Amino acid sequence: MVSFDEKDQFALQRAQMVEHHLLGRDIRDPAVLRAMGRVPREDFVSQAYRSQAYADHPLPIGVGQTISQPYIVALMTQCLRPARDCEILEVGTGSGYQTAILAELSARVFTIERHHELSEQAQTALEKFGAANVEFAIGDGSRGWSGQRQFDRIILTAAVPSIPLPLARQLKSDGVLVAPVGSGAVQDLAVYDNRGDELVGRIVCGCRFVPLIGEFGFRE
Ligand code: SAH
Repeated sequence: MVSFDEKDQFALQRAQMVEHHLLGRDIRDPAVLRAMGRVPREDFVSQAYRSQAYADHPLPIGVGQTISQPYIVALMTQCLRPARDCEILEVGTGSGYQTAILAELSARVFTIERHHELSEQAQTALEKFGAANVEFAIGDGSRGWSGQRQFDRIILTAAVPSIPLPLARQLKSDGVLVAPVGSGAVQDLAVYDNRGDELVGRIVCGCRFVPLIGEFGFRE
């Protein structure tokens, strides 16, 4: 049972996170700030890390993977420009925290994770949060979502050497794709606009992500 004290404590920490780590930097989109202020990040980390849930750094989530720091989650979401009617594909479910933020801001989120234990943990956390607009898949997300579906927005939460072709093909024209791109320890956080047949990209900043392991990503 969670005591009211603990709940209040986390609500305070969440408000401080929005104030200091997001508004205090360059997160300006009111919808993104509202979503970050609503999703209980403590429920997406393990018991051992609950007390650090609102620190502005990544935390381990198991099988050598990490939950991204709150600022990066907010920045990537802001760059993705999600709209209420958007269908979003997320590659790298991880803890499900970014998924929850996206679910707050769009019509539907389709999320793929290669580790079944992480996908299962995320499904439990998202169910507890009450997100009813998320579909989960387990497998290699570099190959895209199965079938012919296209998406308004695509977000990769693991680093790729270049944008996997199947994902570029699943982006609608006028769609936006956000991904960490690069082969080194530090990658470029890149935002691509689909202008018809061409992805036009720009680099937002440097970032550090775990590699996307898969057919169109990195080798294991
Ligand atoms: N947004 C997540 C980030 C998790 S880290 C969070 O905030 O918790 C990136 C995730 O991508 C890891 O869970 C990793 O297992 C997953 N991943 C790596 N390669 C993948 C692939 N080819 N397909 C799907 N998921 C992949």
